[in-house]
Amino acid sequence: MRRWQIDPQSETWRGTAAFEAAVADLVDGRLLAVPTETVYGLAADATNALACADIYAAKGRPSFNPLIAHVESTKAAERHALFDARARALAEAFWPGPLTMVLPKRVDSPICDLATAGLPSVALRVPAAAIMRDLAQASGRPIAAPSANRSGRISGTTAEAVAGDLGDRLALLIDAGPTPVGVESTIVALTDERPRLLRPGGIERQAIEAVLGETLAPALVRPDDAPDAPGMLSSHYAPRAALRLEATHVEPDEALLAFGPDLPPGAEHARAVVQLSARGELREAAARLFTAMRELDASGAERIAAMPVPEAGLGEAINDRLRRAAAPRR
Ligand code: AMP
Ligand code: MG
Repeated sequence: MRRWQIDPQSETWRGTAAFEAAVADLVDGRLLAVPTETVYGLAADATNALACADIYAAKGRPSFNPLIAHVESTKAAERHALFDARARALAEAFWPGPLTMVLPKRVDSPICDLATAGLPSVALRVPAAAIMRDLAQASGRPIAAPSANRSGRISGTTAEAVAGDLGDRLALLIDAGPTPVGVESTIVALTDERPRLLRPGGIERQAIEAVLGETLAPALVRPDDAPDAPGMLSSHYAPRAALRLEATHVEPDEALLAFGPDLPPGAEHARAVVQLSARGELREAAARLFTAMRELDASGAERIAAMPVPEAGLGEAINDRLRRAAAPRR
């Protein structure tokens, strides 16, 4: 891991070789730790599904939570999501700053399915931290960046904490000293009629409500281990088709979600065969998972036979997603 010290106030990095190298890391799909005004972000190109798979692998999360994409301006954000009058007012009032908005994703946004965990919405933020905005602008990529800490540990607010927790996973750590806000961004969802507060954070609820002229409804909470229910504003994507797990054969009328080179008996008459990874690689499978489920739904099959995926590394999060999709809907 390279370590690069910057003065977040002076912004003298512009045009330096170190900055260009950081941009090249992003464009090449590597992981960086980037300071923002809230916490350090574990950053990668949000349009690169393999790079986003590496974020989940580095954090060691047992599930795929959608990632926040960081962009340099409201104009750049509008390339990825549909802004209504409320979204415009909040962007005007609080960007750049510690506010994340969950908005309907534009179908032509290049942000990958894994970054949004397959959802039709996308979480966007224009951070106050100039280094993150400059990296997004210079790379021409939205930057996916959850907090730079392993799952279950506290969010990294110093370069030392980040180096200790994730150093072996990073190409580059950009050290700007302790982050000024120290708590995560406030997340507001504008995907249905009522604006909802998904997470309190660096910007107060009252300030947001004053701009919107209405109160923020609570998130529609669902216990994290509950199966996905159709028609519910869910924080998880599930395919329409039913899923049969650990399939060792394919029944007539089923589509096959394949993993690895050896297809099970019956695969030849499957409605569709979609590969997660013909080589049996978990990173590739994670990168393809949500796109694959969508393709299987599009095949029109009523049921999907899912081949077993090993429960190691990223396999844990892949299996978590498949188990939720297979559980009876409420
Ligand atoms: P962080 O851990 O700071 O990266 O915050 C990510 C959180 O943002 C996720 O855990 C979700 O709660 C929320 N989030 C991101 N994208 C979406 C989305 N498309 N829909 C709903 N919530 C989202
Ligand atoms: Mg976190």
